Amino acid sequence: MKNPITVEDILQWIDEVAPFRFAESWDNCGLQVGDPRCEVSRVLVALDPSLETVREAVSKQCQALVTHHPLFSKAVSTLSLDRPPGAIVGEAIRGNVSIISAHTNLDAALYGTNDTLARALGLVIQGPLEADPRSVQDGRYLGLGLFGLLPKLNSALELAEHIARLVGIRSLRLVGNPEQTVQRVALCTGSGMSLLHRAIENDCQVFITGDVKYHDAQAALDQGIVVIDIGHFASEAFGVPSLADALRDAARGRGAALEVLTATVEKDPFVTVIFNEDRRECLAGAIEISGGTPDSGK
Ligand SMILES: [Zn+2]
Repeated sequence: MKNPITVEDILQWIDEVAPFRFAESWDNCGLQVGDPRCEVSRVLVALDPSLETVREAVSKQCQALVTHHPLFSKAVSTLSLDRPPGAIVGEAIRGNVSIISAHTNLDAALYGTNDTLARALGLVIQGPLEADPRSVQDGRYLGLGLFGLLPKLNSALELAEHIARLVGIRSLRLVGNPEQTVQRVALCTGSGMSLLHRAIENDCQVFITGDVKYHDAQAALDQGIVVIDIGHFASEAFGVPSLADALRDAARGRGAALEVLTATVEKDPFVTVIFNEDRRECLAGAIEISGGTPDSGK
């Protein structure tokens, strides 16, 4: 490839892997900030367009930051540079970093966030939980959320342990009977509980997702389906390397010299703190809380 790679090329390559028209109507995928004409030799791939990831992109001399989540998910009337999202825009423009989002278009795509997690679990995919009839003919389209069969029967607890190891978490939340036998599994990365009814309609025994709320958990309990909440961050951060691989493959296929890095500064904003009798234990985070019995108030 003789011509330099531009931000526009990156947008096109993403569109070839996970067409932007796969995105939900409410979503905002594609170029968030930047100049499509700018040359790109190095890309950083991350889950979120945050001050930290933009700064990481700048410090690593990347000219594009490709993130799963969009920078703008609702209408903005003011961009004040002293607070997000304006501060992120300011940092990106000063650092010559264009920000591109591949969100629900990637969720729904082959090799996207859901597909990546399902494959890693060894799930034999039987179908999507929800599909857009306008896209089902496209071989790159899978749909939102997936269901299928695990190679063997597991208890819900065994499956929970397996997935925790897979996505690198030390705790998760489980709704339902941990001893229940499961083989027919549904999953939706991110916040998937709006698809719980589809998991039930497809006779799934367990639904793996993130961001589970109390009343949704109650509804799952009432309907006898186990829910494993691995957290929004863990469920989607797992797909970031796949997005990076897709960009690397696209560049390699064109003989283009593009370096693709994955962000190292991101971490789950939630930290699990467990209070034992005689100590406080902090899981899944970098913070250490030392000593002392928590005040029981007695
Ligand atoms: Zn998400």
